[in-house]
Parts: sequence; C-alpha cells; structure tokens
Amino acid sequence: MASQPYGICAFCGLYKKMTDEDVIARWIGPLLGRSTAKNHQRGAIHFVPNSSGSVTPLQVTWRRPGHAASLKIPHVCADCNNQWMSHLEIKNKAVLSALIKGQSLILTPFILRNLVGWVAKTAMMAEFHDPSTVCVPQAHRDHLRLHKVPPPDGWNIWMAPYEGPQWALKVFRHGLHMPPKRPEDRIPGDMTRNTQQIMIAVGHVVFYIISSTSEGHTFTLGNERLADFRRIWPMPIGVQPFPRGRYLTTRELVRMIDSFNSWAGVPKLHTLDGE
Ligand SMILES: [Zn+2]
Repeated sequence: MASQPYGICAFCGLYKKMTDEDVIARWIGPLLGRSTAKNHQRGAIHFVPNSSGSVTPLQVTWRRPGHAASLKIPHVCADCNNQWMSHLEIKNKAVLSALIKGQSLILTPFILRNLVGWVAKTAMMAEFHDPSTVCVPQAHRDHLRLHKVPPPDGWNIWMAPYEGPQWALKVFRHGLHMPPKRPEDRIPGDMTRNTQQIMIAVGHVVFYIISSTSEGHTFTLGNERLADFRRIWPMPIGVQPFPRGRYLTTRELVRMIDSFNSWAGVPKLHTLDGE
C-alpha cells in the first residue's frame, strides 16, 4: 500500500497519517447488482455574487469516472478508519445487507442506534468530496466519534424503501446558508453554509438527512406518522416493522430533493443522464 501523507483528521482533529476512506464501504459493492457503472455524478450548489451585490445559487453537476462506491475521501486518519469507523461497518453489516436487498425486518432501538451512526458517518464523509462546501461543524464529528450517533440537535434522518434499481447507489448533497429564523439573530452578509440535505440511495433503501446549525429551525416531513419516509433520528419510541408501506420510485425521490431546493431557493435537481 502506498504510504499516505500526514494531515489533520476530519474526525479526531489530530495530525496523523491519513488513509483513503471509502464513502460507501467496499463490502456493499457486491450487494448492488448493477454496480458496474463506469461513471458517477457529483453535484454541489455554488453561490455566485452578481453585479447588484446579491448572491445567486447555481447548481453544478458533473460526472466523474468510477462508480460512486469507489469514491474515497483522503481526510481520515488510519486510526479512525481502522477502529471506530470500521466497527460501525461491522455492527451494521447484517441489517444494512437486508435493507439493501429489500428484505423486511423489525427495527428495534438497538438496530436503529447502530444504523443512524452509519448514516451520519456516511453523510459526514460525503461532505468531504467537496471540502469547500462542508457544513457540519467539527463538534458534530466529535460527537459521532465519541458517541457513535449524531448530535440530537440539528440532525434529522429518515429512511424509506426504494423500488430501485435505477439508482443502485446515489448520493446527493446540497449545502447552503439558511438565515436564522428570527431576523434579530441574522448577521448581515453572512453566507456561511450551515444547512444541508443529503440523500443516500443504496440498493432498496434510501436515507434522507437534513443537518443544520441555523438557529430556530425544525425540520419535519408532511404527515410524518404515516409518511413513506420514516424518521429514525431523533429516534422514535418503540419497535416498528420496515418497510411500512410501498417502495418509493426514483421520480418521487427527485421530487423530494426538489421540494427542499425550491423551499431553500436553489435550482431544481437536474442530472446529466436525465435520470
Ligand atoms: Zn482520526
């Protein structure tokens, strides 16, 4: 293995020898029947100042060689990679395998607690594909490293069954600045990215995440108690069967991403291959 340079680890914050951590762990690849795609897509929202002094959000989508499962992030130290991150993969392997294959299971608090750790880790890793757009503060990554779950405030995670297999594996992420709810809390000219939506579709399960450090906002989905997407963080009470209802289509997932974008005032999702 080629020797890796030293750097600051995104998770423990220490200056250590870096490794290339897979955003989607390698063991998942063989479970995705259609895992041979030669390209994957990445997207980001960039904020472009215009001549009148305001800022226009611009969505950029581009294609990169290699399947999304091959995406690696060189911002994690060998100790984090091989210890707690690796344990998160091992703890979730059986449950994630079942979800990826579209099998039914009973979600217990024990299962969910492990699962949200994996989802938050994957979301935090996905941020670093474009380090200039990272929204999550270091304190949140510290929380995950120490407690193996995301912080209870500012993180919302839902999951749903996905019909597939059009998106055998897709990760969408949009980070943006959301002004604090109360006008008196807003700082003029502040465009710090503080809020993001991430959608991770893997096999027959899709996770949807909104994380935010903007003051005063709560995020809910319409009619959550009965919706196809089920909230798993903050954790629900009790034991529940999964899936609860039908499997969502790709079109429905695109609509969900777009509804966040139109609410946040950013352009609609468009993909290069029309998917
Ligand atoms: Zn580390």
